[in-house]
Amino acid sequence: MKNIILFGAPGAGKGTQATLLAEKFDLIHLSTGEMLRNEVAQGTPLGLRVKDIMNRGDLVGDDIVVGLIAKALDSGRNELLDEWDQLRLRRACGLGPDDPLPEKPQPSIIYDGFPRTVQQCQMLEFLFQKKQRKLDAVISIDVPQEELVRRIHERAMVSNRSDDTEEVIRHRLEEYEAKTRPVLDYYKVSGRLISVDGSGEISETNTRLCQVLQYMLTR
Ligand code: ADP
Repeated sequence: MKNIILFGAPGAGKGTQATLLAEKFDLIHLSTGEMLRNEVAQGTPLGLRVKDIMNRGDLVGDDIVVGLIAKALDSGRNELLDEWDQLRLRRACGLGPDDPLPEKPQPSIIYDGFPRTVQQCQMLEFLFQKKQRKLDAVISIDVPQEELVRRIHERAMVSNRSDDTEEVIRHRLEEYEAKTRPVLDYYKVSGRLISVDGSGEISETNTRLCQVLQYMLTR
């Protein structure tokens, strides 16, 4: 049961790579960005609270995102699976839609987009102590600033994310520099940081990440 943080600036490819790694190594993929977008899409009270914050490109409050992670860690393995994963598991076990899913042991988790402030790092440590989990590695996907800007603009042309506009993108990158980059130093001093070159193609970065994950998960 490993806990691995995938770290990177907006546009570094965290979401894409975390999805590929979760599939390959059978990990639970926890993305705070996705969780928050789901809350907004469902119009929950929390979604209503964070909608404008996200649309401005500001970071959502630490207590809110840590609350979402805590809730996800509290739920059983099967509740952590999204619908698509559940379908795959049902097929693999030959189960019908109403049969109960078999419980698996505590899964390994890949965290995508979390923690994003030093305060969140400290809150996560406290949470892990309570849940008897420990942080195994922080993998940073490193991409030069110009390439990040190029990628986010490219994505903005095809995405329907309301925070992918010119002004908001700039602000998201400012938020990253001011509040999220310090997270790297936080983990560097504790010797848990692994940096991976993410400047190339998706498949190149994925090959590098798979090598790191292979090592981490079999240790
Ligand atoms: P990206 O990294 O591409 O900007 P994400 O999907 O990770 O996108 O996040 C989208 C938005 O959700 C962020 O701009 C922020 O408003 C909010 N968010 C996601 N994760 C966090 C977090 N850990 N702390 C605070 N805000 C968050």
